[in-house]
Amino acid sequence: MKQKFLDLLIDVKEQVLFLQELGVENLAVELPESLIQSSKFKAQGSKPEVSQEKLERFVPAEIPKAERPQIAKSEGNQSRNSILESTKLSRLPSLSKRNSTFSNISNNQTQEPAREKEMPKKTTEEMPSLFGDITQTLPESTETIEDIRLDIGNCTRCPLWEGRTKIVHTTGNFEADLLFVGEAPGANEDAEGVPFVGRAGQLLNKIIESIGLKREQVLVGNVNRCRPPGNRTPTLPEAHTCRPFLMREIAVVRPKVIVVLGNTATQNLLDTKVGITKLRGEFQDYFGIKVMPTFHPAYLLRDPSKKRETWEDMKKVRDYINQMK
Ligand code: SF4
Repeated sequence: MKQKFLDLLIDVKEQVLFLQELGVENLAVELPESLIQSSKFKAQGSKPEVSQEKLERFVPAEIPKAERPQIAKSEGNQSRNSILESTKLSRLPSLSKRNSTFSNISNNQTQEPAREKEMPKKTTEEMPSLFGDITQTLPESTETIEDIRLDIGNCTRCPLWEGRTKIVHTTGNFEADLLFVGEAPGANEDAEGVPFVGRAGQLLNKIIESIGLKREQVLVGNVNRCRPPGNRTPTLPEAHTCRPFLMREIAVVRPKVIVVLGNTATQNLLDTKVGITKLRGEFQDYFGIKVMPTFHPAYLLRDPSKKRETWEDMKKVRDYINQMK
């Protein structure tokens, strides 16, 4: 009882500090009972068991039967995660071993004709994982981030190229555990060629820092790399034209968690029509990678009362990444 009370105090203190950092001045504090039920106790208790049959899907076919991992019933997700580590994550191409650097790549380079190598498509029908099952794993990538940048070149594949100043590529640490994905660049991002640099970007930096990381330690990008006119929402064809670049980057980097920011990015990445308010707060699946949908920082600037829910989502992300270490 005493320990639970101490845990509760630590939890409340963390949340208050986070909300203060984000500029929330008026707090409607929940009763301790609801905090306990909605935080780590509930999250730990809600992990689904994974059967041997499901685990087999994670193991490459070339591994002999005798060496294939077996799971005891009580091992649950922990075993699945360790198998993911040993079969996929440990084989990631190392950026440091690659030959070229991004400094060789200019936004003005033209690649004609451009290659369109799209990852396998998922439909909501093929993605029961959205509601608790995992059906596909990410295929091994044979390309590098530099290959993808060169393929993007001076892209004119969708109409958004006409209004852009700069293509806004995914930036940050390409060996990161954590990838943040937004919808599309805004005016500041378009001018600088860097994602999330305006007020929303500053808030995103605070959100990243709230879970003990720095912006340079994570990866940040958008589904669409060119600014839509007047900051309108990208159309579905525009999103579907640009999305393969991000999907290919994900296949190269293989982050442990993808945080999708806002409704449009969530629906475009996960190929779902389910809205952010229903999806946020619970891990979804993207080819075996955990996806946490949460509110877009620009939305949080308009409605600061939602920062509290974002903090809850980010705590789950932090706990999952720590658990995977
Ligand atoms: S938004 Fe993407 S697909 Fe469209 S022009 Fe820009 S880089 Fe190309």
